[in-house]
Amino acid sequence: MGDGGADPGVAGWVAPSASDLYNRVFHPNQRKSRGLPTMDAGRSGPINLTDEGQNAWYIIHEATHRFAGTLDYPYSARDMELQEEDGNAATDALVPEGAAEREATMLGKRALRDPATYSGANDGSNRQPDWYAMGRRALMNADSYAQFILIATGYRAPRVRRRRPVTVAWWTAGGAGRRARSRR
Ligand SMILES: [Zn+2]
Repeated sequence: MGDGGADPGVAGWVAPSASDLYNRVFHPNQRKSRGLPTMDAGRSGPINLTDEGQNAWYIIHEATHRFAGTLDYPYSARDMELQEEDGNAATDALVPEGAAEREATMLGKRALRDPATYSGANDGSNRQPDWYAMGRRALMNADSYAQFILIATGYRAPRVRRRRPVTVAWWTAGGAGRRARSRR
C-alpha cells in the first residue's frame, strides 16, 4: 500500500500482461474497436492501490483488470453527474425559474448513445458522452463493474429520466394487452 511512486491522481493499477503491452503498441485504437478483449489477459501481479484508491470502487475496478482482463474504456461520469445534480439543486433553490428546463437538459444527456460515436479518448475531458456510447464495451470496462456493484449495494446513483415501465405502457396502449392477459 502507499503511493509507491505513482503519478498524482492514480488510484490503483495492475501490471499489464504481455498481450496488454503488445496491444498498446500495435493496436493503439483498441478501445475504439467494438471487438472486446479476452477475459484472460494473463495479468498476474498484485493489485496496487494508492491512498486515494483504498475504497471499494477501486478495489472492484482493479480486480476486474486483474481477474477478468477488463480495459479502461471510459471512466465513469458518476462523480461529475452528481456534482451537476448538486449544482443544479443549489441553483434551483436560488433561481426557481428555469429549473424544469435545467433538469430536462441535464437528464437529456444521460441517455444511451450510438456506440459508433464512442471516441475512445478517456482522457481528462468530459467522460459523459463516451460513458453512454460504450455499447457492448461496457461488458469489459472496469468502471462499469465498479459503478454497477456499488450502486446495486446502495451507493448514490446519478438520476436518469423516469420512464413508464414497458409492461404498463403495453397494458395502457390498448386492448391487445388486456386480451392477451385475459387468456392466461
Ligand atoms: Zn483501470
